Amino acid sequence: MKINSAKFVVSNQDVKKCPSNHFPEYAFIGRSNVGKSSLINMLTNHKNLAKTSGKPGKTQLINHFLINNEWYLVDLPGYGYARVSKTQKAKFQKFITRYFEQRKQLICGFVLVDIRHDPQPIDTEFMEWLGSNGVPFAIVFTKADKLKPKAIEKQVNDYKEALLQTTWEEMPPYFITSASKGIGKEELLGYIDEINKS
Ligand code: GDP
Repeated sequence: MKINSAKFVVSNQDVKKCPSNHFPEYAFIGRSNVGKSSLINMLTNHKNLAKTSGKPGKTQLINHFLINNEWYLVDLPGYGYARVSKTQKAKFQKFITRYFEQRKQLICGFVLVDIRHDPQPIDTEFMEWLGSNGVPFAIVFTKADKLKPKAIEKQVNDYKEALLQTTWEEMPPYFITSASKGIGKEELLGYIDEINKS
């Protein structure tokens, strides 16, 4: 898929205030600093569509971007940032939970994980929660430029094993990406394109 236009539409913390039309949407979420903003900018050919976070944990908003006047790319706040208060965390959890539970337009959530890190409960538990709520999702491994191919393979296999030890019977769809090297762009956009066309 070629991205011809990417426009910021709206930011809010309330799923009821998200755009009311019925374009399919794809949401990106992951721990703070995972490389989410960089990935979104890489996918949309923008330097600064999503704000790369100098201060992780700051963007506590649901951000809608309209792509090619056809679908929404949704940038969700990063989770697991130690420095936000408990109250902020609880509030965060509520609006994100509501978003995933209520947003009918959501086609797929992309859960970003840093390829260098071993599976972390905060991510696998979140995937578990998505699964138990019937929310389709795919895993996006980020920063693949940081590892050699063999190490990438090992990390993906470790992830597979960690998930299969829980309730999963198979590995969800996954993508290996690097925002700095442009790796995985075609695959990820192609995946969205396929779903939009089906
Ligand atoms: P966010 O908090 O998830 O939005 O993460 P950012 O996009 O702001 O990136 C966090 C840090 O990771 C920044 O220092 C980026 O330069 C770095 N980063 C992001 N993507 C990549 C990547 O693909 N490769 C490498 N090597 N670094 C990356």
